[in-house]
Amino acid sequence: MFLYNTVCEVVLYDYSGDVTGVLDACEQRSLDIQNMLNRYDNRSELSRLNQNYCPKVPYPLSKELFFLLQSVWRFSRLCDGAFDATVGKLVGLWDFTAEDPAVPREKEIESSLAACGYQKVDFWETDYSVIIQVPGMEIDGGGFGKGYAIGQVLQVLQKAGVSSALINYGGNMFLLGENPEGTGKEGWRVGIQAPWEEKGKCLASLCFSNLGIATSAGYERYFRKEGKAYWHILDPVRGRPADTGIKSVSIISDNPLITDLMSTAFFVLGLEKGEEVARRLRDYVVLEYVAQTEEKLILSEGAKIWNQYGG
Ligand code: ADP
Ligand code: MG
Repeated sequence: MFLYNTVCEVVLYDYSGDVTGVLDACEQRSLDIQNMLNRYDNRSELSRLNQNYCPKVPYPLSKELFFLLQSVWRFSRLCDGAFDATVGKLVGLWDFTAEDPAVPREKEIESSLAACGYQKVDFWETDYSVIIQVPGMEIDGGGFGKGYAIGQVLQVLQKAGVSSALINYGGNMFLLGENPEGTGKEGWRVGIQAPWEEKGKCLASLCFSNLGIATSAGYERYFRKEGKAYWHILDPVRGRPADTGIKSVSIISDNPLITDLMSTAFFVLGLEKGEEVARRLRDYVVLEYVAQTEEKLILSEGAKIWNQYGG
């Protein structure tokens, strides 16, 4: 499937049930989520919220979008706003995918920042509405849509009794069950691309199962101006590409949404704060990481055990 502006695939192994039926259900679920979140489609529910809300007035949402945004906001609070889905206006200003992108002026960044900030949104569970305090805010699903979709597809697969499958949404993955090509013990092998190096060169090669992995890095979506690279992950406070010395970070977790959110957050937080937030999250989910900084490669304890290249 081509969804979320990337290639998405679901591969089933050793499944004797209705393969077409299951894959169709995965596709439909993914499409529904894209239709809810797509910022390039004016009719998506998220676009309609962005276009039609009035500041300080409750705006009712579908239950699904309400609870999804509420989870994302909980995460934003937990990581002190390093992940902030309200950066849409800034993402538009930087326009990393434009033909000829330019570095915005400080004035433009400042005025866009006024329309950002997760603290400027309140949630009203009684009628599933949100109240946005400021005009011009644009909520961006780019940092959490794929992770949410993977979690939903995983549920489709599990309900259908699929025991072994690969879900790969543009490099954001979940590996269900045991490695179909292995003896059932060693897990799936996942290579992590070395950032800014030739394709195929790996930082680490991890073996695990029943977990997801997502990577955030600057090397895939960026532009260069006067020798400096500007990538698509923003520091929501400064309104500029996050630059904490992390070149690439991969998060491994059993929760696909957290995997996606945390990869972006860790990139913004940098190593020390990222590790601290990872420790907090471990009370709730599996959370391991492989982080490459300017100076060193750091693997969390679990990732060291899974790494075929040694810890
Ligand atoms: P990708 O989508 O390329 O796999 P990420 O999961 O890291 O990478 O998400 C990056 C996308 O999230 C950006 O393209 C942008 O739309 C949005 N974004 C950028 N910075 C932030 C941020 N600090 N918090 C939340 N979303 C962000
Ligand atoms: Mg992410």
